[in-house]
This record gives sequence, structure tokens and C-alpha cells, in this order.
Amino acid sequence: MNLILLGPPGAGKGTQAKRLIDAYGIPQISTGDMLREAVKNQTQLGLEAKKYMDAGQLVPDEVVIGLVKERLAQPDCAKGFMLDGFPRTVAQAEELDKVLAEMGKAIDHVISIEVPNEELIGRLTGRRTCRNCGAGYHVIFDPPKEEGKCDKCGGELYQRDDDNEATVANRLKVYESQTKPLIDYYQAKGLLRPIDGVGSIDDIFARIKAVLG
Ligand SMILES: [Zn+2]
Repeated sequence: MNLILLGPPGAGKGTQAKRLIDAYGIPQISTGDMLREAVKNQTQLGLEAKKYMDAGQLVPDEVVIGLVKERLAQPDCAKGFMLDGFPRTVAQAEELDKVLAEMGKAIDHVISIEVPNEELIGRLTGRRTCRNCGAGYHVIFDPPKEEGKCDKCGGELYQRDDDNEATVANRLKVYESQTKPLIDYYQAKGLLRPIDGVGSIDDIFARIKAVLG
């Protein structure tokens, strides 16, 4: 089963993707993870991507598609995959269709998790990250035992540059202007499966499973 998971930043794509790969036995292909790895390892693609990520802007297509293409060619994608965070635009979706067609594959379902903007801003600006070990927290949904301090290593928690309100608002605006046409693209192909993204993780996952059958 070849899946795409769509949704704005903060919609819980990563969390639902993990549930899905366990339930269906397919690998999660997260461009977010691939980009962070490339930034961490300071590869040529990673350094290029970091400039855009720090400014709350989308990473250019040729960088992202290069990473995705390499990943889809790996043997663990033979029986299916879950794309999380890609494609973000119609141009990327068209590139993806070409790449898949060359491999004799196609997308089966496009899951679109839908959450109102005001809830997304609350979720995203509450995120905190450990400066020492990188562990993630949330001031409302997943607070540390002691404020500002990592439970795992005692390190200082901070708000990442891309989690402040101005950057978050900009990311949502970029998402709306560039990614909404993607929803129309997959709707026209009969592949779109809209999911209400407000509620518990279990509730949202149950809605996704009901749609996939
Ligand atoms: Zn820590």
C-alpha cells in the first residue's frame, strides 16, 4: 500500500505515520527526518536546506526530490511506503508521479489531516526541545516534570527558532498558499481521504483506519 500523509505543520502527521507503519508493515518516509539528518551531518544538501528551514521557508524541490528519489529506490519500499511531509506542492506531486511511474508504482491513498489554524498555532508555539539530547516536549500536551528542564538528561529546554509565533504563522501561510492546490490535485484523481485531525491520537488513527479499510 503506497500512502501519502498530508496536513499542515502541527497536524500530527509524524505521530499518525508511526501508527500506520506499525499497522500496515510499511516504512515511513519523512522528509522532515531526512532533512534534519542531512542538516545534522552537514551534507551539501543539508547545508543548503538549513538556510530555508531557519527562515521558516520551504526547502527547494530539487533538494527534497533528490532525497525522496534515493529513498524510494531502497528495497524496503518494494511492498509499500508512507510518505510524510512530501509532496508539498503540485510540482512535487507531478515529479513524484514520474518517479513512481518509472518504477511501475502508483499512490493508493492520500490521507489529509485537517486542523483549524488557531489550534495549530497553540500546538506549535508550545513545543520545547532539549539543548543537550534533543528530546521534545510540549508546555501543554507533554510538559517536563520540572519546568524548563529535560526529564531524560536534565538539559535546558528551549524554543526552536522555527517554533516562535511569527515563524509559525508564516509557515501556515506558506502551507495554505502552496499546498492547498495539492489537495485539489489528489481530489481530482480520486485519491484524497480527508480526516478530522481534532481529538485524541487514538480517535484520529481510528478515523484513518476506517477510511483505508
Ligand atoms: Zn535532554
